[in-house]
Amino acid sequence: APAVEVRGLHVSLDGVPILTGVDLTVAAGEWVTVIGPNGAGKSTLLRAVGGLLPTSGAISLFGTPSVALRRRERARVVATVAQSPAVPAGMSVFDYVLLGRTPYIPPLGRESAADLTAVHEVLDRLDLAGFARRELATLSGGERQRVFLARALAQGATLLLLDEPTSALDIGHQQEVLELVDQLRHAHGLTVLATMHDLTVAGEYADRLVLVAEGRAVATGAPREVLTEELLATHYRARVRVVDGTH
Ligand code: ADP
Ligand code: MG
Ligand code: MG
Repeated sequence: APAVEVRGLHVSLDGVPILTGVDLTVAAGEWVTVIGPNGAGKSTLLRAVGGLLPTSGAISLFGTPSVALRRRERARVVATVAQSPAVPAGMSVFDYVLLGRTPYIPPLGRESAADLTAVHEVLDRLDLAGFARRELATLSGGERQRVFLARALAQGATLLLLDEPTSALDIGHQQEVLELVDQLRHAHGLTVLATMHDLTVAGEYADRLVLVAEGRAVATGAPREVLTEELLATHYRARVRVVDGTH
């Protein structure tokens, strides 16, 4: 079964239709990046796939209807990194990554030795062992982004949802974080569904791009098939013209 299968997805926020019939398939092991103009609904699509929004239409994760997954089950399948995750004041890097183990820790229980080992392994893997006792809030943007990924990995999920994972980073750190995601994907057989603002970077790292505009997935394919002048002119500039009202 595909990692993600979305059929006829509708999402309204505060009574306003944002997504109006999105279809999307992500194969297991694939990296798909959602692009589209500002406000097109990229983040909304990711949140819907992550089970964070009420929706209509069908979403399946690895062949299981999303509605059939209970919270903990879902958390073992899919990990979301929000665009700017909240950074709890005073929390160490280690404790933050340990939060990723929540779906494995019994309610009102303590983490096990296996949970602690999993956190140490992930910190080692992401070159963060030296930061374990540091307060997360004191890390640089690129270091924090690695910690957010570490938490998602500690969750043991096979599907990573990354909303604008590099939007807060300079170009050098963007490449570094995306290379890391790509390595992790291959090493752990992960599936990646991301959103990205920067079209050049988006095209470099994805197997396929999905262009979301006017509430739908209007184009899907290899980066060179989606990053065409015609598609971008239609779906990006059209929006700018509406906004400045000069047409
Ligand atoms: P993108 O990630 O593509 O920039 P979003 O998914 O964040 O777009 O937002 C899509 C649209 O939904 C935008 O017009 C945004 O203003 C609107 N929106 C987002 N959150 C809410 C909300 N809680 N209530 C109403 N509208 C919202
Ligand atoms: Mg936005
Ligand atoms: Mg967004």
